[in-house]
Amino acid sequence: MLKATKFGGSSVSGPEQFAKVKAIIQADESRRIVVVSAAGKRFSGDHKLTDLLYLCHAHLTYGVSGYEILRSIRDRFTQIRDSLGLSYDVGAEFDAYCSTLRKETPVDELVSRGEYFTSRLMAEYLGFTFVDAADCVFFNYDGQIDFEKTYAAIKEAVDRYQQVVIPGFYGSVPTGKIKVMTRGGSDITGALAAAAVDADVYENWTDVSGILMADPKIVENPRSIPKITYGELRELAFMGASVLHEESIRPVKDKGIPLNIRNTNRPQDPGTMIVERVSEKATRERPITGIAGRKNFTILTLYKRSMAGMSTLRNALEILDRYHVAAEHITMGLDSFALVVSSAAVENSIYDLIADLRKACRPDDLQVKDGIALVAAVGRKMTSQPGTSGRLFQALGQEGLNIRTIAQGADELAIIVGVENSDFEKTIRVLYEGFTG
Ligand code: ASP
Repeated sequence: MLKATKFGGSSVSGPEQFAKVKAIIQADESRRIVVVSAAGKRFSGDHKLTDLLYLCHAHLTYGVSGYEILRSIRDRFTQIRDSLGLSYDVGAEFDAYCSTLRKETPVDELVSRGEYFTSRLMAEYLGFTFVDAADCVFFNYDGQIDFEKTYAAIKEAVDRYQQVVIPGFYGSVPTGKIKVMTRGGSDITGALAAAAVDADVYENWTDVSGILMADPKIVENPRSIPKITYGELRELAFMGASVLHEESIRPVKDKGIPLNIRNTNRPQDPGTMIVERVSEKATRERPITGIAGRKNFTILTLYKRSMAGMSTLRNALEILDRYHVAAEHITMGLDSFALVVSSAAVENSIYDLIADLRKACRPDDLQVKDGIALVAAVGRKMTSQPGTSGRLFQALGQEGLNIRTIAQGADELAIIVGVENSDFEKTIRVLYEGFTG
C-alpha cells in the first residue's frame, strides 16, 4: 500500500499544524509521499505566504522597499523552526536568498520560495527526504507539464528515498528556470506524485471534512459527501460548487486512483472519497449526491409551429456562436426550444442578438426571461431510482417554487431546474432537506 498525501496551506500554517501533519503521517506508514503548500493563514485576517511573496515582487518591480514583508515571511519560517526545535537554519538560508533579489528576479522564482522553505522544514520534522520540485516536476517550453519526464523523476526519487517531501505549486522549464502553476497548484503536484508511483490513494488534506452536499452559506451545517464519482464532481464543479479544479485531478482520474479529501484538523473524519465508479450495492439509497447552482441566467425561448427538423435550432446556435455566447442548456419541445445562456454573456448584445435570431429563425414568437438561477441536483443514483425527478418537482411545487425550465444531462447525472433568482436559496434548501437525508 502506498499513499500520496498533499497538505494545503492551512494544514502547514504554523507549528501546531505541523504537529497535526506529523501525527497523520505517523499514523499510517503507507503515507510515504508528502506534498506541501506554502504556509497559509493561521487566523482570519492573516496572510498566505504566497500572497505576501507576490506582494514582495510588486515592491521589487517598482523599486519600493519590501523589507517589512520579507521580514514577516522570515519570522513565519523561523517561528516554525524554533518551536519545533529543528536544526535547518531557515533564517540564514532565507537571508541568503533575499540577498540575491533584484528588480529582474523572476516572479515565479520568488513566489515558489513559499513552498520551498515550508517543505524544507516539513522534511526535517518528519524525517523524510526533501526532493526539490525543480528537479522532479517538469514543464515543456509551451508551459504544459511534461508528464513522462515528471513521472519518471518522481518515481525514481520515491524508489530511492522511500519517504519524501516535495514542494507543491512549482516545477522547472527545460532551461532549468522555475515556473509556478496556477494558484492552488499544489493539488496538481500531489496528483502528479500519486500518478507517478501508481499510488493506491491520493489524500488531499485540507481544512474541511470533504466536499459538502450543499453550500454552507445557504444550508446550515451541510453533511459532507462520503463517496462521489469523478463524473458527479464534474457536474457539481460546472454548476459552481467550489471543489477541486478538474485539471488538478486529471492525473489521478486518468489512472483510476481514488482521491480522498480529508481534514487535517479532524483526521478521524473519513472525508470524501472520489472514485471512478461506485459499486451501487455498497452505497446507501440516497438519490442525490450533492447540490450546486448559479444565479443570473437568461432563457431565450423560440416558438415556431412545425419547426422543420433541427434546422431552426441549428440556425439559432449559429447566431449564439457569432456572439461568442455558449448555450449552457437546451430544452426542446415539439414546437419550441429554449436556450439558457449566462446573462453576463449577453449583457451588451441582447438586442442585436434577438434581432439576428428573429432574422435567422423566423420564430412565431421569441421570449426573453432573465433573472434565472440554475440549480443542479447531482446524483448517479437518479437513473436507477425511478420517480426521483417526479418527487423532486413535486417537492419544489409544494413549496411554491415555480420551475421555469428543466434540463437533464445526457448521462443522467444531474437534473437541472431553472428558478427565479429570488428562489435560488430556497430551492437549494428544499432539495437538500428532501433528498439528501
Ligand atoms: N501556495 C500556492 C497558492 O497559494 C499554491 C497552493 O497552495 O496550492 O496558490
